[in-house]
Amino acid sequence: MSHKILVLPGDGIGPEIVAEAVKLLEALRRSGELAVEIEHADIGGAGLDAAGSPLPEATLALARDADAIVFGAVGGPKWDSVERALRPEQGLLNLRAALGVFANLRPAIAYPQLAQASTLKPEVVSGLDIMIVRELTGGIYFGEPRGVRRLDDGQRQGFNTLVYSESEIERICRVAFELARKRASRVCSVDKSNVLEVSQLWREVAGRIGADYPDVALSHLYVDNASMQLVRDPRQFDVMVTSNMFGDILSDLAAMLTGSIGMLPSASMDAGGKGLYEPVHGSAPDIAGQNVANPLATILSVAMMLRYTLASPELAERVQAAVASVLEQGLRTRDIASSGTRLVGTREMGEAVLAAL
Ligand code: NAD
Repeated sequence: MSHKILVLPGDGIGPEIVAEAVKLLEALRRSGELAVEIEHADIGGAGLDAAGSPLPEATLALARDADAIVFGAVGGPKWDSVERALRPEQGLLNLRAALGVFANLRPAIAYPQLAQASTLKPEVVSGLDIMIVRELTGGIYFGEPRGVRRLDDGQRQGFNTLVYSESEIERICRVAFELARKRASRVCSVDKSNVLEVSQLWREVAGRIGADYPDVALSHLYVDNASMQLVRDPRQFDVMVTSNMFGDILSDLAAMLTGSIGMLPSASMDAGGKGLYEPVHGSAPDIAGQNVANPLATILSVAMMLRYTLASPELAERVQAAVASVLEQGLRTRDIASSGTRLVGTREMGEAVLAAL
């Protein structure tokens, strides 16, 4: 069966980094190891320029039809003054919502070759391999009512609502437990159940789902303690599962343990395994078009796609091994360069990974 893959390069460095990732997919297709049909479409500022919308109808239709989407990044100074609903970033938010991708997977892996890129001591981060599972379509970012209202005394008051239903908690916890089974079999559920009723329900439901996975060790942490532990001894964690806002914050923290934003992939998945795969970083307009952006986060996002949507874990391993091998050879883009390594551009890095594959 052939998988449909939609490629959305977007803006800024998006087209440059996505091109390198697509080269790998094309190579696997040509060698007969991967059955895929690849289409391209516009999103973000590119969508706005081409079709008057950051998420053109035609792009959304292709996205709905695809099994997986490889996304670059959107946004840039060219569109900074357009109205909010037409901003490039809105295209991505609308796409995530339209596809119902509720599970955001953000791995933080410290490559031994890049251990000195972290601001933490190498002995604290070396060998780190954490998977943060963040609920992406619920919680306080979407809860109603929300707004800014005028109080009787004349001052304004801002308010948001933190809500989670049992089914929302259940499905994100199941994603975490299933992932843990394929890793080190540990899940840490992060909440604030000492203060919030929503978190009390979260903890109860996580425990109930955990009972279905007796082979996976479940622990619970309050979010304040979890953030301390992530910095103190991050290697204690395997899979962490948490709500939208806590996950937003903790995943950025965990990401920075590894040192470089140019190395961090992500996946956002729906209940059926369909996924939106994208680097964690943005469109980096400051370096766009200069052949200096690091394509590895996008290439590693493609590895996640091979593993989670295309059910080809052995190809995913090979792509990850190819990335490790170019790092071992000493090749570095500017963002991860250090003394004694060889500085390469976006294309050279992509070609080196392809050669190693
Ligand atoms: P950014 O992630 O684009 O850049 C932050 C810094 O990291 C910059 O110095 C940039 O040069 C560097 N950087 C990022 N990716 C890199 C890579 N692959 N290789 C080397 N260096 C890299 O964040 P920003 O500057 O805050 O935002 C720029 C634009 O991107 C804005 O319009 C913002 O809204 C948008 N943005 C988009 C997404 C997305 O599409 N998912 C995410 C974040 C920001």
